[in-house]
Amino acid sequence: MIELDGSEGEGGGQILRTGLALAMLAQRPLAIERIRAGRPKPGLMRQHLACVQAAAAVCGARVQGAELGAQALRFEPGPVRAGAYRFAIAGAGSCLLVLQTVLPALLLADGPSTLHLSGGTHNPWAPPFHFVERAFAPLVRRTGAGLELTLRRHGFHPAGGGEVLATVTPAAGTLQPFDLMARGELREAWADCLAPGLPRRIAARELAVFGEATRWAPEQLRHGDARQDEGPGNALMATLVHEHATEVFMALGEKSLPSEQVARRLLGEMRAFQARPAAAVGPHLADQLALLLALAVWRSGRPARFSCSQATPHLRTQCVVIPRVLPVTAAIDEAGAVPVVRLAPAG
Ligand code: ATP
Repeated sequence: MIELDGSEGEGGGQILRTGLALAMLAQRPLAIERIRAGRPKPGLMRQHLACVQAAAAVCGARVQGAELGAQALRFEPGPVRAGAYRFAIAGAGSCLLVLQTVLPALLLADGPSTLHLSGGTHNPWAPPFHFVERAFAPLVRRTGAGLELTLRRHGFHPAGGGEVLATVTPAAGTLQPFDLMARGELREAWADCLAPGLPRRIAARELAVFGEATRWAPEQLRHGDARQDEGPGNALMATLVHEHATEVFMALGEKSLPSEQVARRLLGEMRAFQARPAAAVGPHLADQLALLLALAVWRSGRPARFSCSQATPHLRTQCVVIPRVLPVTAAIDEAGAVPVVRLAPAG
């Protein structure tokens, strides 16, 4: 039995999703208590419940406590089944967090899977579609597995209605771990602004403010391709393609938040990463890469490491929880200019 205290570490939804993923991988039952105890509305929100239900569907799990607001859950996984799945997340819950939950298990399944996900595609506190497509999926492919994504429709809070198709193909042999210690030289950089259902001047203003501050050329400041009927919604994103890794940062517009502020928030995120040139990946990619590489280390018996701009509470939680379930060590070395995560086979 894997026993987790959901209030531990970062104490939000991530420990639940990682716990579900690990339970499916290790084929061990999971008991988690105090789910999201530190959050203003503790327990399972719709978003988290959708992750539990998706995990249960891909492995035929027996589940107790899968209810809105539940703070304790028992999840007994069965064998993971590759296949075609449809997961609809009521409201604008993030499609990409559902993908994050089931992807590890499907990467090690006995065949390819297709997922049709509907809900939010650009949500606060969740990976936006373009981050997963441009930054995370290429790293999945570096392990020898496949992850192809198509955005059929954008979905923003509160309406949702976004649609993502994902095809997951397990690696032909074992998942291969890799080292990612430097981002390499900058090859391309651009911003794109999604503002469906809003006057075009909003996107124009956000891009102008961002462009003035970065001194990026007009062709680097792009209006995204969201259709007018996919809104209202607003996401300003910056994509930095480096030789060894791509990063995507996002700031979401909100009602009554001036365009200048949206642009400044994005600048803040991007500059924090640029101020740490020795880091290969940024804060969000770090916690997601930790689990992906841990699988590859476990399956191949070979170590992996990566450098990151920041050791966030999310990353620390991953490094505590993963070794409790998989025979892998996960250490964060903070002696150098930037944190380095080292994953190795245990024992
Ligand atoms: P809670 O509501 O309990 O805070 P949650 O389930 O909404 O939890 P977190 O536990 O905070 O979410 O986990 C969010 C996940 O989304 C993490 O893996 C984090 O790295 C990722 N994430 C958040 N924002 C971004 C972003 N802008 N780009 C990429 N990934 C992101």
